Amino acid sequence: MRFEFASPGSIVFGPGSVRGAGEAAKALAPDSPQAFVVTGRDPSRAAALLASLDEAGLAHAEYALGREPRFEEAREALALARDLSCGLVIGFGGGSALDLAKALAALLANPGDPLDYAEVIGGGRSLAKPSLPCIAIPTTSGTGSEATRNAVLASSERGVKVSLRSATMLPRLAIVDPELCLGLPPDVTAETGMDALTQLLEPFSCASPNPLVDALCREALPRAFRSLPTVFREGGDLNAREDMCFASLSSGLALANARLGAVHGLAGPLGGMLPIPHGAACAALLGPVVKANVAALRQRAKAHPALARYAEAASLARSEPLSDQSARAEDLGPILDNLARELGIRGLGSFGLDRKAFPDLILKAEAASSMRGNPIVLTKDELWAILEEAI
Ligand code: NAD
Repeated sequence: MRFEFASPGSIVFGPGSVRGAGEAAKALAPDSPQAFVVTGRDPSRAAALLASLDEAGLAHAEYALGREPRFEEAREALALARDLSCGLVIGFGGGSALDLAKALAALLANPGDPLDYAEVIGGGRSLAKPSLPCIAIPTTSGTGSEATRNAVLASSERGVKVSLRSATMLPRLAIVDPELCLGLPPDVTAETGMDALTQLLEPFSCASPNPLVDALCREALPRAFRSLPTVFREGGDLNAREDMCFASLSSGLALANARLGAVHGLAGPLGGMLPIPHGAACAALLGPVVKANVAALRQRAKAHPALARYAEAASLARSEPLSDQSARAEDLGPILDNLARELGIRGLGSFGLDRKAFPDLILKAEAASSMRGNPIVLTKDELWAILEEAI
């Protein structure tokens, strides 16, 4: 057995844990005159964090991000943060705020423009100097960005989303407080929850598995399947929110240490081409991609281990005891379709996807790095059929 496993410096999980953020920030960057805090569109949600920083005597400047981050916002926030003397960046919000905070922490330590360091469309320069300390505090249960080493930025000019990536972009501290998700509206709960589920299922069945990732997925998948419908119906159920926060955190650890697959291969370019939330794209694609993968594997790679993984995931979804796992790989697609129906997941057409865009989207998806993690190479016709079903 040979593997590597990267994770945030430390993880503090539990209801109310955000209240310790101020002391933790002080300990991480004792000489920092102030912290730069990135929040989502409504900074009042960060009241507990800001109060905790005040209590610890740490000054702070805030930047509120109103949408999934683009290079424009990264440049604007970077200019502000470079003018201040910040030795620490805190991201508080969904994956959008966390990604922008992680990007800033990296760019404050490395000179130049964000695009210089972007993969695919940018200079691809390496972030040679380690990121400033960064604390990530998620308020959605979806992206697991608190445990990953990349930050996704969208390019308006090129119509794609790309990452800045570096091992030191892993946050020094992840504070996962399920109470912060209690007010998440049902549609965002559903879509981000399906993102977490995707980030568990893709690494669990990917082309480069990792035994520690498998262990996390086996613990997190039943929690996600059980609790996602509950938090959708009853957002205030703290136990179910805990399950989803655990699933999301595990999904970030999983994607940081294994590979993704065709759902993310398609969702990345889709999010660059259309204003479609990342979770919504994953949610609409997950069932169709799993069904296409199972059919392609049965046809062209009958002995592929991913088939057993899909069957195991279907058993975990049905909470079958270990001794009695009778599900087949073919069972997983319909389980995911039923879940999407129960959660009111919208088709991609409702976000403006038109069949005319399929050829360009398929070309971009084939070039996406996530696609290389898919257990089998899908043909253009198979990718077209996935989009046809997800539209
Ligand atoms: P998001 O951060 O864009 O948030 C979605 C919406 O929910 C926003 O309107 C936000 O204001 C609102 N919101 C957040 N928390 C709330 C709360 N507690 N109560 C009420 N409303 C709340 O969505 P997301 O899905 O968490 O993040 C998406 C971004 O993350 C995308 O840009 C995607 O590409 C990126 N991503 C990054 C990684 C990574 O590893 N770095 C992984 C997956 C996705």
